[in-house]
Amino acid sequence: MGRPSGLPTRWALSWRILITDGLEEDGLTILRRRADVAEQDDLTGLEHFDALVVRGRTRVTSGVLSSAAPRLKVVGRAGVGVDNIDLEAAGRIGVIVVNAPLASTTSVAEHTLALMLSLARRIPDADRSLRRGEWRKAELEGVELSGRTLGIIGVGRIGSALAARARALGMHCIGFDPHLAPGEFRRRGVDPSGFAELLGLSDFISLHVPLTPETQGMIGPREFEMIRPGARLICTARGGLVDEASLLSALESGRLAGAALDVFAHEPPGPTSLVSHPNLVATPHIGAQTIEAQRRAAHDIAEELLAALGGQPLRWRVA
Ligand code: NAD
Repeated sequence: MGRPSGLPTRWALSWRILITDGLEEDGLTILRRRADVAEQDDLTGLEHFDALVVRGRTRVTSGVLSSAAPRLKVVGRAGVGVDNIDLEAAGRIGVIVVNAPLASTTSVAEHTLALMLSLARRIPDADRSLRRGEWRKAELEGVELSGRTLGIIGVGRIGSALAARARALGMHCIGFDPHLAPGEFRRRGVDPSGFAELLGLSDFISLHVPLTPETQGMIGPREFEMIRPGARLICTARGGLVDEASLLSALESGRLAGAALDVFAHEPPGPTSLVSHPNLVATPHIGAQTIEAQRRAAHDIAEELLAALGGQPLRWRVA
């Protein structure tokens, strides 16, 4: 019961799937109906498995893939970002890579909004000071989001979901995305902008691009010079997009009024000068850490992984 029709049990259960970063029960249930599933926190014995499921922690390098082939046929990423998987090597070695790109869009957009509001009203600072027994009402003056310009770098799924929510709060959204057709920006509720123009005009700047050689360090010393003085910067996309040393300088000089990071070049970052800066709001990569997003990611990746093993058409193949 529960097994898709036409698939002989003996053959189906000959698949072996390894999970190294955990998976929500919904996904495990789907996988266990059709395969032997093992959970461990490293890649020992990967060469004896047909498929691997990871989140962001496990690094799937070229060496890992070549030593696990030919039995390893599919790698599934229960989430969006695939920068921990060597896609070029997977393509070369013939290992299929699939992800679950729709699962976390709403959660990350909502978390970005939470960080923007935290920055605007200095909520973490207010909370910390009250716990110390202080009453700093006069100093804790914030700004409204309404009427402000939000610059969105990368107007994809999360960037567009953020725009819809920001517009509802009365923000004006402009966006930079070189891969998007001009008409598509307005359909996503965003006015198209050049990169330099966006940096100079925005009160809040939020990054929603993948980490690639092209986007690595895209907000560095030169860009901080171009950012409108007093602006606030948010990054819930990937560590490495924002140069952290230049960000610290921009906070120290007062050029930036504040910044919020959910992602870091090295995770966990430890108690660095950046993380401890009073005008930085920091969260430990929890953008997709909601019950709904984790459940959706597990469900979607389990179905996609089984489709890949069964040679069926794929919705979210990335290599
Ligand atoms: P997406 O592919 O839908 O959108 C990315 C957009 O970036 C695309 O429209 C693309 O054209 C654009 N882009 C690519 N290169 C660009 C460049 N150089 N300049 C401007 N735009 C560029 O992806 P998504 O689902 O919206 O995810 C966006 C980011 O969020 C990814 O980095 C992903 O890893 C990250 N993410 C973070 C978390 C978290 O837990 N914090 C969770 C999920 C996703």
